[in-house]
Amino acid sequence: MAVTTVYGVLGSPIAHSLSPVMHNAAFAALDLDAAYIAFDVDKERAEMAIRGARALGFGGLNITFPLKEAALHYCKPDALSQRIGAVNTIDRAGAGYNTDGIGAVRALEEAGVTVKDASIVLLGAGGAAKAIAAQLLLSGARVLVANRTASRSLILAQQMTAANINCGCGDIEAHSLNEVDRLLREARVLINATTVGMRGVLEGQTLVASAQMHPGLVVFDIVYHPLETPLLREARAAGLQTIDGVKMLVHQGAASFALWTALDPPVQTMEAAVREALRSASGTDDEGR
Ligand code: NAP
Repeated sequence: MAVTTVYGVLGSPIAHSLSPVMHNAAFAALDLDAAYIAFDVDKERAEMAIRGARALGFGGLNITFPLKEAALHYCKPDALSQRIGAVNTIDRAGAGYNTDGIGAVRALEEAGVTVKDASIVLLGAGGAAKAIAAQLLLSGARVLVANRTASRSLILAQQMTAANINCGCGDIEAHSLNEVDRLLREARVLINATTVGMRGVLEGQTLVASAQMHPGLVVFDIVYHPLETPLLREARAAGLQTIDGVKMLVHQGAASFALWTALDPPVQTMEAAVREALRSASGTDDEGR
């Protein structure tokens, strides 16, 4: 009898993770005998859990908050995840990857943005911003990082230029939030990779208002709790094209899925499952966005 292949996401808290619903929908769509489960794992048990999953023959793992950095030590990270300093995907053989930035770049490409040579204002210098900056540079973008703590933008830019992550394709500059007005004037895309706008943290807030946006700007908020953030509302008020955080979530998940299974991920099914789960959780209808 065939043995069901188990996949999982490790992190804490994990109860509200959308990854199980997204990946189980993908397995069902492709008729795979597989199951994806969320495991509440704190930092103290990270090593045991990662090594244990490998010993048990798991098909693959996702790693999320607060384990992405620690997980580097318990897998064989590829060059990109080493440079980012964080892993979000581990395969059956113990190889580590970071697909967060790929998720963001694919979301932009799906929206019709040509990333190569595009000037992109990236708000934030935390874990997500770092992964996005690394992938944008690999794709040949001009990345203008602006962070509340300006010294962290500088550190991020230095980390990216210190190594070959840049491969001579893209370009990165460090700025403070005070400079955003000026930076936006020459930008094709604005990405919010801060926690501003996030439910329960900085809900109802935005770092950029519609008056600072110009026609043709694409506005991408990676925050997906809530799905319609104040930044996206401002952008829609200005009549601009927007991308919500679910797009990045789905594309990073699809990239993990492809690494584990070597199959084409059913991206639309995965996205529909995530949006449905968010709808039932919030009791709101976000269709049409
Ligand atoms: P993080 O490492 O904690 O970084 C937080 C960032 O937000 C820092 O740059 C911080 O600036 C900035 N920030 C916090 N409060 C601020 C404020 N009041 N004003 C201006 N900037 C502020 O967090 P993260 O892991 O990068 O995650 C960031 C967001 O992305 C979260 O909402 C997370 O849920 C979301 N996310 C989404 C996806 C997706 O797939 N859609 C994936 C990953 C993360 P300082 O450096 O000045 O503190």
